[in-house]
Parts: sequence; structure tokens; C-alpha cells
Amino acid sequence: MRDPRQWLSGLTRRAWLIGAAAFFAICLGTALFLMRDTAPAPATIPISQLLDLADQHQIRRVVIADNQLYATAVDGHQYQATKEPQQTVTEQLRRDGITVVVVDRGGGAIGLNSLIALVPLLIILGMIWVMLRRGGPNNQAMSFGRSGARRYGGQNVTVTFDDVAGVDEAKQELAEIVQFLKHPERFRAMGARIPKGVLLVGPPGTGKTLVARAVAGEAGVPFFSISGSEFVEMFVGVGASRVRDLFRQARRHAPCIIFIDEIDAVGRQRGTSVGGHDEREQTLNQLLVEMDGFDLHTNIIVIAATNRPDVLDAALLRPGRFDRRVVLDPPDIRGRQAILEVHARSKPLAPGVDLAAIAQQTAGFSGADLANLLNEAAILAARANKPAIGREELEEGIMRVVAGPERRSRVVSEYERSIIAYHEVGHALVMKALRHALPVQKVSIISRGQALGVTVQAPREDSYLTSRAQLKARLASLLGGRAAEELIFGDVTTGARQDLEAVSDLARRMVIEFGMSDLGIVATPGRDASPLSADLAAQVDRAAMQLIDEAFATARRILSERRDKLVTVAEHLKKVETMSGEELDALLGPDWTVCD
Ligand code: ADP
Ligand code: MG
Ligand code: ZN
Repeated sequence: MRDPRQWLSGLTRRAWLIGAAAFFAICLGTALFLMRDTAPAPATIPISQLLDLADQHQIRRVVIADNQLYATAVDGHQYQATKEPQQTVTEQLRRDGITVVVVDRGGGAIGLNSLIALVPLLIILGMIWVMLRRGGPNNQAMSFGRSGARRYGGQNVTVTFDDVAGVDEAKQELAEIVQFLKHPERFRAMGARIPKGVLLVGPPGTGKTLVARAVAGEAGVPFFSISGSEFVEMFVGVGASRVRDLFRQARRHAPCIIFIDEIDAVGRQRGTSVGGHDEREQTLNQLLVEMDGFDLHTNIIVIAATNRPDVLDAALLRPGRFDRRVVLDPPDIRGRQAILEVHARSKPLAPGVDLAAIAQQTAGFSGADLANLLNEAAILAARANKPAIGREELEEGIMRVVAGPERRSRVVSEYERSIIAYHEVGHALVMKALRHALPVQKVSIISRGQALGVTVQAPREDSYLTSRAQLKARLASLLGGRAAEELIFGDVTTGARQDLEAVSDLARRMVIEFGMSDLGIVATPGRDASPLSADLAAQVDRAAMQLIDEAFATARRILSERRDKLVTVAEHLKKVETMSGEELDALLGPDWTVCD
């Protein structure tokens, strides 16, 4: 997708150019105008007087334009006279030894004047023409109405269903669309109503764009694609004309697929925003008009993608529009393995690398995350000059996707290193001590991305429900870092900021959304309605505070009871910087106890 900022800077640069051209043209026009004005205005005299002057050899030159005569006297005076339409004076003037210029059509001086006036206009038009030519079809400032989709027109899509893994149900549903695009007549003979629009629903990175392209690839039809956010332009009416243009092009290339990414950017419920959003509504209306204009013989399928189906305007989901909904879920363990296999096809893996094991460690990863992981691993292997991607690179790839690349260059004082080590081990030990907490996968004091240190938990495999005990354990684990700092250093640092944010967020959700506090089930006003009443809000805050207090007490109790282990592990971590879950287990020994 085009970076909108790039587009903007492109626009401002072009706007600047246009401004400069206009300024230049205006200067030139003014200069010409002034020059013309400084010449003495011709005096209008009767034709008889002009001919008399000519006979007296007072006139040097005459310009005849239609019925107007413009005479220049020997003394420099200018005269203007009108002759009868059929009257010819050329012969007589010539006999007087005067230079005669006949201008065909248009009135001499007036023609000259309007020519001069045209110069700035011509210059502006010329500049615009040059810019249009240079900008090409992607020139947004100049081709307002043209949809960016043209770039993809007739593009040969080489992606097929083989490149999409882990979303078998979606592929099955879309296979029908492929059949229709390939053999529309078969469906029509059966009197089947052909779907016009398919809505792909799923969180980011689950392969919505990929699968849409795969449909085009499987059917061997052109793929027109545009993003909803591109429709939302600065000028009212641009979005609508883009939609019109997009569909016009698609009709010319039917059978084909139109893909509208991020349709929620234009397809939000109309009339919800204060003051309205004309531009978006016009665009949305145009889209609906175009889709309603499809008839039995329109072989165009419109595929749209969103991760917010709940905000879409109901009109979009009505029969005959996006009435098919295909859901793409985050991949489960088998799906993850399949996706890893797809992306490993073009990458050499070291013998013994087990993608099933990687799939196991990556619960919660999207397809895009997995593709990213393999790419990072490939880069690491190439950088280390290895012949193939090994387990080590894959593990680091996981960490990079979870927490960003390592930042070894960040200089940390010995004292801060110590605080970070105790903070992270505080998290890890609370996790290890609570029965309902998730297993620890890795503890590290090497900073990554924003974090100074990280403790990674292995997500519970493909679980869809989480219990109150598990969430309480999570609250305590999040507070383990802060508790350890307090216990060992007698003071606390800003290092726990993100932990505290996560804690208050989770605690509030437990109270309001999950009804897991002493308040019990909380009756909240609907999603978009007014906020909680002041009274209820205060109760929610109190209940959330109580959950947090309890969790912090739990974390403190666990760590003070296991203070010696905290010191042992943290001091070890300062030396080795990174520990795996197994190393941590070994260090904690067999007498480690677990509690609720
Ligand atoms: P979305 O449009 O849902 O945000 P994308 O289709 O843009 O996701 O996915 C981004 C990239 O992630 C794809 O180009 C592909 O490399 C990878 N990917 C995502 N989902 C899958 C999948 N199910 N199978 C294979 N690769 C996938
Ligand atoms: Mg996408
Ligand atoms: Zn922390």
C-alpha cells in the first residue's frame, strides 16, 4: 500500500510547482500587459481622415484586420479607423507608398492583445501537461478521479490456494467463487443466484489480502485492488469518482475481482459521526450504487476485507451486497505448522529443524507473524554466513516477532542491570509459583524494542476460555517485577510502567466485561452508548483496585517466601543474560513449591 505520508509530500511538492508556475505566469502576463499599456493608445479617426493622412504621406504603416485599420504615423502616432466591409483600401494605401499588412480573421491589435492574455494560460496548461506526463498514472494530485486500482488492472496474479495455509474452511467457501468466475454459464443455467460481494473477516495478518489474490490466481482473472483508506481523500467527491472509475475499469476486464481492503474506512455506519462525514458517505453510497447496478451477466466479484465487521453500515451487508461472510481465524497449531511449511518452501532449513516444534512455541501468532519469523530467521542465517536456517535462528526469529530485535548497543549501568535482572526474575518466579500461571519460556535482560528486559510466557495452546484463577495469576505475574524491586532495593522504578498499564487494563476488563470481581456481573450500557454512570464507575474502580491489591499481595508473599531463590536466579541471569524455561527449572531445583 502506498504510504499516505509519501502521497502527501508528493502532493505538496506538486502544489508547490503549480504555485510557482502560476506565479511565474502572472508575472509574465503583468509585464506584457504593462508593456502594451505604455504604448500610446491609438486615436480613433474616420476612415476618410486616415486616407487623407495617407495621401499627405503622414502614414508609414497600416495593419488591416477585417474592417479595422491600425495605422502608424511617421511621427509615431497610432490611429485606428473602421472601413466598410466591402471597401478595399489596400491599393490606394500602397500607391501612397505605405506598408500594408493584412491580418486574416480576428482584429489586429485586439487579436494581439488576446494573444498576450493567452500567454499565461498557455504556460500554466503547458506546466500541467508536463507534470501529468511525468507523474504517470499514479500521480494522485492530477488524476483525482482515477482509482489507484488501475495499477493492478490485468495484473497476472500468481498466488494460488497452495500459498494459503491454515484456513481450510475459508478456502472451501471461496472455491465456489473460483468456480463461478471460471464457468459462469454453468451457474446461470441452474438459475443460481451468483454472489456479488464477499466479506472477509479476520484479525490483521490472517491472510485476507492473500486469500483474495489467491481467488483471482486460481480463477485466472484480473485483480483490481484498492484500500478503503485510499478512498478517504481530502476533496469531497473524489472517493465517489474513484469508485466509479474502479468499477468502470473492472467492467471492461470482466470476469475479474475487485478487492477493497479495510472497507471499514468507508463502510462505517452512516450518520454516526457528529457533523457527518460527507466524503465517506458519498463514497459508500457510490459503492452501493455500483454493486446494485450488477446484473445477471456481470462477472465481477467484489471481495472486501475488514477486522471490524461490527462497525460496518448495515446497508453493506444486505442481500445482493456483501452477503457472504468468510471468517479467517488466527491459525491453530496445525495451521501454524502448515503456514510455516508454505513459507519454508523457498528457504533451506538445517537438517533436524522441526517446524512442528516451532508451531508449538508460537501460539497466538498470525500468518503474517509466522512469515515474518521465517524471514527474520533467514536474514540471521544469511548474516552469519550459514548454509541453512537452524533452530537457533528460528528461536531468535520468534523473539524478534514477540518483542522486537535485541538492542545490545543500549548502554546500561551495572546498577540498572541489577534492577532489571531482579525485576524480570520477579515476574518469572511468580509465574513459576502460581499453579494457574502460564509456563515461562524465556527470561532475558537484553533489551528488545521498548523493553529493558523480557520474560516470555508460552501461551496456552489454542485455548478459547480463560478462567478467573488464570487471570488472577496473570495479574500477580505482571506485578512480580515491581514486587521484586521493592523487596530487594527498598525502592521502585519507572521500569514497571508497562506492567502497571497492563494490570489496570486487565483488572478493569475483569470487573466490567467478565464479571469476575466482588461486584459480580456488571450491567453496562451498550458498546456505543453513554459511559458508565458516575456511581457505577466508582464501584468499578474500587473493585478493580481490590483485584490489583490482592494480586500485588500475592506477588509480594511469593517472592518474600522465596527470597533466596530470587537472589540466586537474578545473580545468575546477570551473568548469562538469557535463560530458557528449562535452565530456570534446573536452577530452581526439585524442592520448588507451587501454590494457588
Ligand atoms: P491481512 O490482509 O489479513 O492483514 P495478509 O494477507 O496481508 O493479511 O498477510 C500478510 C502476509 O502474511 C501474507 O502476504 C503472507 O505472507 C502471510 N500470511 C498470512 N496469512 C497466511 C496464511 N494463511 N498462509 C500463508 N501465509 C500467510
Ligand atoms: Mg491485508
Ligand atoms: Zn516488568
